[in-house]
Amino acid sequence: MNFYVLTLFPDMIMDGLRTSITGRAMEAGLIHIEAVNIRDFTKDKHKHVDDYPYGGGAGMLMQAEPVYLSYESIAERIGRKPRVIFLTPQGKTFNQDMAKEFALEEDLVFLCGHYEGIDERALESIVTDYVSIGDYVLTGGELPAMVVIDSVSRLVPGVLNNDESAQTESFSDGLLEYPQYTRPANYKGMEVPEVLLSGHHGNIEKWRHEKSLERTKKYRPDLYEKYMAENNNNS
Ligand code: SAM
Repeated sequence: MNFYVLTLFPDMIMDGLRTSITGRAMEAGLIHIEAVNIRDFTKDKHKHVDDYPYGGGAGMLMQAEPVYLSYESIAERIGRKPRVIFLTPQGKTFNQDMAKEFALEEDLVFLCGHYEGIDERALESIVTDYVSIGDYVLTGGELPAMVVIDSVSRLVPGVLNNDESAQTESFSDGLLEYPQYTRPANYKGMEVPEVLLSGHHGNIEKWRHEKSLERTKKYRPDLYEKYMAENNNNS
């Protein structure tokens, strides 16, 4: 799967994603991540990519042309119009279902805004999805792009060592994950629940499901209600 990130800060993207699981997946050729510097596409001799907003107001705006040309360089290279995700606080809030949907694509382009944002005409020309990572405002779209790329990469076959872990993680089935424990069995007097030491697979699964329900009800009642309604379950 190929991720192309249109950004004014390519090092931030590559430094952030070259580590840990995404870095290993890049090395293994399971995913390809490329940061495209929008500044390389300006025709301004001082390499400016921003200007004052028409009508006045605070801050600067990224100009349409370098953004459009940076997108076009990718579209021409891959020979078709890819899906373009603009990271914006005005977008639909990102969640696991969106991650699953994005993971089905072969190529994804991420557009990172900066300053006060991007000239609307560039957005109208190329953006297919408007995605927010939450109701707060960051200085740029780079951290949100990394958040989305990280979560989508986890769903690409082979990226996680154990394919099962993506299937049992929080949100994968609409519930939060159950509590987990590793050695030692007794830590500062706190014992690992007996059932997890029993080796009885059926009982362990049952206990984990109960804990998932308990946890989701306590911390995310909204998800709990939805799960119960969808599963027609009164427990
Ligand atoms: N003036 C814009 C507004 O009110 O919608 C906010 C601009 S923000 C300072 C600069 C850039 O950061 C945005 O263009 C966007 O790419 C990114 N950004 C900020 N907060 C974000 C969020 N919650 N989710 C996704 N992207 C965000």
